[in-house]
Parts: sequence; C-alpha cells; structure tokens
Amino acid sequence: MIGILGGTFDPVHYGHLRSALEVKDIFGLTEVRLIPCAQPPHRQQPSATAWMRLEMLKLAIGSQAGLIVDDRELKRDGASYMIDTLSSLRQDFITEPLLLFIGSDAFNQLTTWHEWQHLFDFAHIIVMTRPGYEIQQLDDFFNTRLTKNRSELAHNSAGKLYFQQVSQLDISATAIRNMIAEQQNPGFLLPDIVIAYIRQHQLYQRQ
Ligand code: ATP
Repeated sequence: MIGILGGTFDPVHYGHLRSALEVKDIFGLTEVRLIPCAQPPHRQQPSATAWMRLEMLKLAIGSQAGLIVDDRELKRDGASYMIDTLSSLRQDFITEPLLLFIGSDAFNQLTTWHEWQHLFDFAHIIVMTRPGYEIQQLDDFFNTRLTKNRSELAHNSAGKLYFQQVSQLDISATAIRNMIAEQQNPGFLLPDIVIAYIRQHQLYQRQ
C-alpha cells in the first residue's frame, strides 16, 4: 500500500513529517509519497517557488526510509489538481492500494475539489483527525464508502473512506512564515537544514 500526502509545504515542518511517519507505521505502508503542489487551485499562490518548496522537502526527508518526495506536479502545466495526480500515480501503480491522506479541514472542503467524486476511483481517502474530532454528518455518497475496518483498505485498491486519529502537532507553515518575517527563531518547528536553506535564500522576509 502506498500513502500520498499532498500539500504546499511552504515550508515543510515537523507537523507534516511526523504525520507522514506515523501513518506509514499505522497502515504498514511500503512508502509515503510527499507531493508538493505546484500551482494550488484553491488558495493564494505560495510564497516560495515550487522548486524551492521541493528542495526544502528533499532536504527535510534526507534518507528517511519509506518517505519519498514526488515531483510529478511540478512537471505538469496549469493548476495542480489532485485528480490528475492520482490518475498519474495509478498508471505507475496499477493494482496497489493508494491511500490519499488529507487533514480534517481539507475533508470539509473536499466537495469543492475538481472532480472530487472521481478521487475515489483511484485511491482510498484517509482523513487524519485530531483527538476529540467529531466526524461530521456524512451524506450517502460518503456513507456508502465509509469503512471502520482497516483491512478493507488492503483488500481494495481504491474507493473507501476511513478516519484515522493522528497526534497532530500544533505547527503550521503560516505561523512559521510569520515568525521569520518578524525575525523570530522558528527552531524546533522544522528541521535545521530547512531553516538554513530559508536563511540562505532569504525566504519569507517581510516585503
Ligand atoms: P499553511 O499554514 O501554509 O496553510 P500547512 O502548515 O497547513 O500550511 P500544508 O502544506 O497546507 O501545510 O499541508 C499539507 C497537508 O499536511 C495537509 O493535508 C494538512 O492537513 C497537513 N498538515 C498541515 N499541518 C499539519 C500538522 N501540524 N500536523 C499534521 N498534519 C498537518
């Protein structure tokens, strides 16, 4: 089974890295692919360029076994839609279960994603919840796909919805960018090697 964690990673931080490692172990995944979004369709354009965000991810992951940086969204033109990314991954992994991990905030917006219903044609969707998170009322579309049985994920290559609690660290890239702009030290929120890259390229300084 292969895990997929998309994001802007502007910059990558320990919240991302810790959840990637945690879900890899919980679900017994062969690998988790961290996929930086080149041109987010839904939000403000990121502060750092896509290539810089990719570089920071590569530095952060280093040689951590089972975590892979996947640059496929940077190789496409136009808005980076997850449906295109999953379709492309499915061509690489024809029969393997694909698990797309999204935060509960992202899940609440899922029905605004391009061709969102078809995401389930290519992958399972795993919603990473915080302790105490109440699952919102699901409509029929989601209820028919919902499973509470983890083994169903391995027995189907796509199509299931599953909620998994993870120990989310209270870290956000927005807060890190703001700290750097305010000349505060973001140490211990993200790897030192990424902080060094940010300094070297003078990223996230106040305009
Ligand atoms: P920003 O503050 O710029 O919106 P972010 O820190 O939320 O960024 P993204 O790159 O947008 O990071 O997030 C990518 C994915 O990682 C999303 O699925 C998001 O839910 C998840 N994520 C972000 N922060 C954390 C965290 N602290 N713990 C666990 N997952 C996180």
